[in-house]
Amino acid sequence: MTETSTDGTGQQYIGGKRRSGTSREQVSVINPSNGDVLATDTLASADDVDEAVAAARDAFTGWSRTSPAERSEAMLRWADNLQQRAEELAAVESSNGGKPIKLARGFDIPGVIDNVRFFAGAARNLEGKSAGEYSPEHTSTIRREPLGVVGSIAPWNYPLQMAAWKVLPAVAAGNTVVLKPSELTPLTSVMFAEAATEAGIPDGVINIVTGTGSTAGSALVGHPDVAMVSFTGSTAVGRQVAATAAGQVKRVHLELGGKAPFVVFDDADLEAAARGAVAGALINSGQDCTAATRAYVQRPRYEAFVDRVRELMEGVRLGPVDDPATDMGSLISRRQRDRVAGMVDRARQDGATIVCGGYNPEGTPAEGAYYAPTLITDAAQDSEIVQQEIFGPVLVCLPYDTDDDAIRLANDTPYGLAASAWTGNVFRSQRAGRDIQAGCVWINDHIPIISEMPHGGYKASGFGKDMSAYSFDDYTNVKHVMSDITGDQQKSWHDLVFTGR
Ligand code: NAD
Repeated sequence: MTETSTDGTGQQYIGGKRRSGTSREQVSVINPSNGDVLATDTLASADDVDEAVAAARDAFTGWSRTSPAERSEAMLRWADNLQQRAEELAAVESSNGGKPIKLARGFDIPGVIDNVRFFAGAARNLEGKSAGEYSPEHTSTIRREPLGVVGSIAPWNYPLQMAAWKVLPAVAAGNTVVLKPSELTPLTSVMFAEAATEAGIPDGVINIVTGTGSTAGSALVGHPDVAMVSFTGSTAVGRQVAATAAGQVKRVHLELGGKAPFVVFDDADLEAAARGAVAGALINSGQDCTAATRAYVQRPRYEAFVDRVRELMEGVRLGPVDDPATDMGSLISRRQRDRVAGMVDRARQDGATIVCGGYNPEGTPAEGAYYAPTLITDAAQDSEIVQQEIFGPVLVCLPYDTDDDAIRLANDTPYGLAASAWTGNVFRSQRAGRDIQAGCVWINDHIPIISEMPHGGYKASGFGKDMSAYSFDDYTNVKHVMSDITGDQQKSWHDLVFTGR
């Protein structure tokens, strides 16, 4: 399948038009589950970024002055358009991401459509303090204003969902956007922007520049006309983005890496916890910033939990991503698979036990970047495999003794994006919700997200919220307009400075 190519259609979407980039860098967009080339295109140059930012700046005045109802109606039409294209979007997302078609159909695409509908409603519900006379001589009004051009940068793991999380709160609040998707996975982001145009969202409100981080990404982050940078990706790149933004005193929103703990107390429903761990660790081949990566199991239940997780992992079906029976697809690239394999090999050399997996599975396409579901025990808490983000289908399982140990171990990494606690005890669950340092703590589940509720990190997982009305705090400025209501020429407070006659 050739989605778009060097025939002039291209992976840039600037000012409502699709075209190729003007850099010297070519990219082949691959289906990583079988190596097929889906599209070949020239990537964005810094000039393309300039053009996209100019288009967004030109569109800003008009878009920011549309009424919330107009923005909302356009976004509802956008959602309808995406709904009509849902099957096509799912097929492209599945092949470009190497993810099973059932995940794209059941999670990625419906999640995005629901997000568009949520933000269509939220556009009409921007909130602030009520206007009033906080001083008896003035009326104070709060305005929530869009910032201008938002530069958004997204990763490859959930290409369309990440594009949606970046773009939707920004445009619902009246900003315009230049989004840089990962150059590995641009296809659905461009389709998303095209659908917005078809729904009547004006040219220039949503622009896509597909390019590398070092060229297009850094040009976007450093662009003087970009008012805010919204970044989702690794903590290492997030640090560089924050440093550039700090130099320009530019607002920044960072959704970074994760290393989610999965805490199983001794009173937990063990079967529910084992199933939750397998689903939570293997979703999207483990390439999920909230994936369950470290299971801490209270000692009396530890061996039974490990046995059951191994059994369930061994039953997971790897296969072609377009087969509806496939449970798990490939990783995003062979490079990523080699990175995961390297971390597992180093853990083995350091004395960890590979209970299952830890190899490139047979029976999957030779050109595919598959890696078997992998369960690891006997790793040290301070080892790389426990402390660093793996971003692959790998779960480490470790025992603990007391409830305090569980919380201490859960919090013992630099990250704080998500976590779960498994228990039938209401007091334990409430304490876990309070004490685990993460932006989301699930109780007796792991992974579900919902448009109305925020997603965002603590610690090295970043700051700022995606989804939910909380995201408007990032994408709007709060302005205070204070109006004198006395009409006096000599205000009462002037006496503090001069009593002039
Ligand atoms: P990455 O940090 O390598 O790249 C993310 C994006 O940044 C890409 O578009 C890349 O081209 C761009 N980029 C790279 N260098 C840049 C630079 N110097 N300036 C500007 N942009 C630059 O991450 P990745 O490998 O694409 O994605 C995986 C990472 O994303 C994982 O760490 C994962 O945890 C994280 N992630 C976080 C969330 C969240 O919500 N917190 C969600 C999804 C993924």
